[in-house]
Parts: sequence; C-alpha cells; structure tokens
Amino acid sequence: MENAAAYDEKFLSGRELGPLPRSVYPNSVHEGVYMSREPDRDVLIAAGKSDFEGPRFTDAAGTAFVRASLTHKNAVILRQMFPFTAPRRVLGEKCTVGVGDRLGIATPGHIRAFRRFDAVPVFAQQSIRELNLTGRTYEDVLDAATFAVFREGFSQTQGFGADGDHLKTPEEVKYALSRGYTIITLDCSEHIRSDAAAMTDAEVSTAYASSPWAREPDYLNRSVRLEDGTPLEFGAEDFRRMALIYGKAIEFAEGIYHSLLKDSVNVDFEISIDETATPTTPAQHYFVAKELRDRGVKFASLAPRFCGEFQKGVDYVGDAEQFRREFRVHARIAEHFGHKISVHSGSDKFKVFPAVGGETKGRFHLKTAGTSWLEAMRLVAMKDAPLYREVHRFALSAFEDARRYYHVSAQAADVPNVESLSDGDLPSLFSRSGARQVIHITYGLILNAKAQDGSLLFRDRLFRLWRENEDAYGELLDAHIGGHLEQLRCKAR
Ligand SMILES: [Zn+2]
Repeated sequence: MENAAAYDEKFLSGRELGPLPRSVYPNSVHEGVYMSREPDRDVLIAAGKSDFEGPRFTDAAGTAFVRASLTHKNAVILRQMFPFTAPRRVLGEKCTVGVGDRLGIATPGHIRAFRRFDAVPVFAQQSIRELNLTGRTYEDVLDAATFAVFREGFSQTQGFGADGDHLKTPEEVKYALSRGYTIITLDCSEHIRSDAAAMTDAEVSTAYASSPWAREPDYLNRSVRLEDGTPLEFGAEDFRRMALIYGKAIEFAEGIYHSLLKDSVNVDFEISIDETATPTTPAQHYFVAKELRDRGVKFASLAPRFCGEFQKGVDYVGDAEQFRREFRVHARIAEHFGHKISVHSGSDKFKVFPAVGGETKGRFHLKTAGTSWLEAMRLVAMKDAPLYREVHRFALSAFEDARRYYHVSAQAADVPNVESLSDGDLPSLFSRSGARQVIHITYGLILNAKAQDGSLLFRDRLFRLWRENEDAYGELLDAHIGGHLEQLRCKAR
C-alpha cells in the first residue's frame, strides 16, 4: 500500500501520462500490481516487467510501470499471475450460490455479502439468453468478475466459480468451456417430452411401444427405499411415462458428457430439467439420476422443477409446507447419488429458503440473477427520480414484448402509477411484486433502448449513475444477498 501511495504521489507530480489515477483500491495491492480508480473507469498499474498491455512509463526512481486498461487480454494475464482471480471448480463445496451480474458491476457488492458467510460464490453466471439480451460475451462476464475479485482482494480460500448457465447445444457448451467456465449447466428442456405427462395410460403404452427406449431397469415394478426409508414406487405405467418424458433428455446429456466433458479437468456438470410444464416427481428425479449414473455420466448437481412457482424476482408462490415435504425427498435422492440439488430462479424465495438450507443440511446450490439488476434499479429510484420515471414508463410499454422470454404472472395493471407516487416513494416499488417483475424481465430492452436518432436512450446515464453511487449499490447488494445467505442458513464466518 505504501508503495502504491508513494507511486501515486510521483504519478501526480507530472509526466505525459494522461488522466491521473485518483486513488488506489486498498485491497487491490498485490505484489507490484494494483488497481486505481479514475473518474469513469478503473485501471491496473503494474510495476516492473509484466506482460500487461498499456502505456509504459518510468518514475523518478527509475521504476518501470505499465498502466493497463481492463481489457480481455489484461484479464487473461491477471488470471495467470494471480490464480485467485480465475474461477475454480466449486460445486463440490457444501453451500454454493450463483449471483449472476448482468451489468458487470455487481461483484464488489456480492463480495461484501460472501465475506460474511461460509458460502462459495459463482460470480460469473449467465445464460446464452442473458448474453443475447445484454449484448455481452462469456469473456466479458468472466473478466468483470476477475477484475472485481482482484480489486477487492477477495478470498484466496473461498474462490469463486463461473457458470455457463442454461446451455442448450454442443456449440454453446464448447463456447463456455473454451472461455474457462467451471460449471456447465446443460438445459435439457428442449428434449423433455412434457406432453407425455398429460397422456392417458393407453396413450403412454402406445407411444412407449414405438419409442426406442428398451431398457427395463431392475427397479421396475419394485419400490426403491432411500436411506431414510422413504419408498419410491416404480410401477410399469409410471416407468413408461417417465421414460417417454425424460428419455431423450437423458440421451442428450449422456452425449454431451461423453463427447465434451468427460476429459475436462476443471469443470462441474449440472443437469437442468427445471424448465418444464410440470414439477419433477421424486421418482422421476431418481430415474433421471440413476439412468445418468448407469451411463457413466458424472454430474455435480441437478436442478429439478419443484412444486409451486419460482417466478423471477419475487417470493415463492405456492404451499411452502408442501414444498418442504417434497424437497426433503429430493434432497434424500441427491444424497443417495451424491449430487447436489440446484435451485434455479432462486432469488427472493425467502419462504422456502429455510427448507432449502435445512433439508439439504446446508449442501445445495442456488442461483440468483435478476435480483442484482433489480437492486441496481432500486438505486436509480433512490438517486434520480426523473430518470427512474423515464425508465419505468419505457419498461411498462415494453413489458408485453419481454414476456415472450420469461414466465411471470404480473400484469401491467398491478403496478402503481409512478406519476402519482412521490419521489421518496419510488424505491418502495421494489417491495411490490408487480413492479419487480416488470423491471426484472425488461432489462435487455431497457439497456438497448434507442432514441429516434439511434443513440442509446438510457444505457450511458444508468451506468454513470451506478458508477457514481457504487458504494451505495454495494450496500444494497450486501444487505440483499446477505439476507439470502442468512435465510438459507449459511454459517456466518
Ligand atoms: Zn433454470
């Protein structure tokens, strides 16, 4: 730190270096490299010989420096020099929580929360859908996490993961793998035959007879007992139905695993069957896990679809007691096979967090994404009422369009009229599910909204506000994500 401060003194005393670094992030000083805050961006300053790209200069004492922008190339070098800034495999750890950062600015706030709990974060976590809607790439998402982890000096011991979330094709899996992502979440939904859930037994028999599924497992017509004595029944009808619903998805996951993942050393595999029309029954969960294991597929976590509704950005909708009863059986099945339960769309599900933490004995994976974006918009409502109103009006007008991508129950009519709310009341919109859902799912449209002349309508103004109020954003995230970890019963550090 002293060196860095002394360096800044010298830096400020002149030379041809352009904008001057104002301050050094105190936790960023690592072996001759640190991060410095400029009005509109951060830069890396490295002393001595290094491969960083950027203008080089020498101070009065003859020390050579480079002033490196936060580019992809410099992120790659940073990860090589400081391995704690690279993602690691995390799903083997007990409590892991994904905190997607759609804007690339939330990680410092997430770090504040994770410093307080015994939980391992997945800072980089985006689906292809999110990348498309925000115009980002996997490089960019991971680099933002790397720079933030370096800047905050986040935990050499905890580390963090990077999740290529909801990947649907071999190309998407290869893309995430090639960018160093340490979790591959395979979305099997397009291979799940949901219509079979509603077929009559006779229809199931006919369809099954013509399906290529020929394996008759040894647990057919038997009841399987889990370690705690819970029985799972596998009658012939049920089995055929399961095979029809999940058969193709199992084959899809098997193919991806054996062709792309089996020999990857630094990657965990997550199976996602959550985006379906009907909840995954315990027997179906057992069936999918057993079939995958029997085919040699190693996976670290599996995301079933649970009873009730896990809508974006709002609390659990449904019977929390029923959830607990069913979740308990899912947790025992996961324990039996040795994988973790993964809970998707997990933000703000405070009603069921105690069950998730409790029934798994603290061994689970939970994903949140849009809730950190909502906190960013809450900040806008707190700091700049006119801008917030403008964005809000736009979001309402774009809501119907955005619904095509996301399942939410809110109606535009559920949202209080912003024109009649006082400035001071605007942030309270973020305590109401209607407004939360409208803002939650319109992020892509808001960020990319264009004015008549083709310029971006909100983007630059929003990012400027977030930059100027970075500390306040960190405080909001610390409280909000910290609240999640607390209700999930993660141990305080
Ligand atoms: Zn999901």
